[in-house]
Amino acid sequence: MWYRREKRRSRAATLAGDRNNRHVVPEDPTGTMKGMPKRILLAWPRGYCAGVERAIDTVERALRIYGPPVYVRKQIVHNIHVVRDLESKGAVFVEDERDVPEGAVCVLSAHGVAPAVYDNAADRRLNLIDATCPLVTKVHLEARRFAREDRTILLIGHQGHEEVVGTSGEAPGHIVLVGSPEEARTVQVADPGSVSYLSQTTLSVDETNEIIDVLRERFPDIQAPPRDDICYATQNRQEAVKDMARDADVILVIGSDNSSNSKRLVEVARSSGAPAHLVDDESHIEPAWLDGADTVGVTSGASAPEWLVERVVDHLKALGATEVRQLHTVDEQVRFSLPAAVRA
Ligand code: SF4
Repeated sequence: MWYRREKRRSRAATLAGDRNNRHVVPEDPTGTMKGMPKRILLAWPRGYCAGVERAIDTVERALRIYGPPVYVRKQIVHNIHVVRDLESKGAVFVEDERDVPEGAVCVLSAHGVAPAVYDNAADRRLNLIDATCPLVTKVHLEARRFAREDRTILLIGHQGHEEVVGTSGEAPGHIVLVGSPEEARTVQVADPGSVSYLSQTTLSVDETNEIIDVLRERFPDIQAPPRDDICYATQNRQEAVKDMARDADVILVIGSDNSSNSKRLVEVARSSGAPAHLVDDESHIEPAWLDGADTVGVTSGASAPEWLVERVVDHLKALGATEVRQLHTVDEQVRFSLPAAVRA
């Protein structure tokens, strides 16, 4: 940690020095606007993951097959632009399945739900289409298994996040939420010899590992999930942003404020030494962030559509950026099949 803090400080100092130097240049020889970006770095992978693509596709197909209105419980994915776009096509977003008219078509969001939601839907005879990401379902199944074995499950995640609410509902009485290394140091369990851990799929990989290290130290027999719970898309986007932080003077992360994986990208960028900001779209970019930033890194959370990236790139070009380069870290080949009700 000490090393990381020092590295961050010296990186920040370097950036400050660069900025000062640029401010005394009277005219920009390239002809671009003074103090404005010249280069855009695009992280790859970025944007939609397989679970988000599947969820959005599910709502769009449901609209075509059943016709509007199609009700969607909670935001299908955490992005305000996606929600508005689907609303314009006839989707109706509700907070609770009990707000859906009896017998109507209702899609469940990618974040997963507790079993009580299925019971409520059955009571209302809803035509339910489940767009829960299969990687979230995997965590639910692990929670059920650990609960059957009567183990305490330490769930690493953020209080109140929809995914955490859903996973917790699978094993009531067994799950204890751990939100930070500090909480990992103090959490109490009934039997330290019978403990497992799980995690939300969209956390910071580094912070989660820090928490797991503390838990392993305190509970040497703790059982891990068979495979990482933090999903491939979260991990890949964080690795890509770390790479980008080496070359970017500032990083813009496109995503909504309630998107966990987008917010983690901002944190990862900052802890890698680059100033970073979360923006819903280009209208949220503050000119002061770009002042003196030659190279602007751009990435997007797993729920942000690519056309928002294009809008941000156009905005930066209009400000003077002339070079666009993609930083490629890994290829993604993951695809999920659609729910049976919309597959035809
Ligand atoms: Fe699934 Fe990961 Fe995408 Fe969440 S971020 S929907 S867990 S693939």
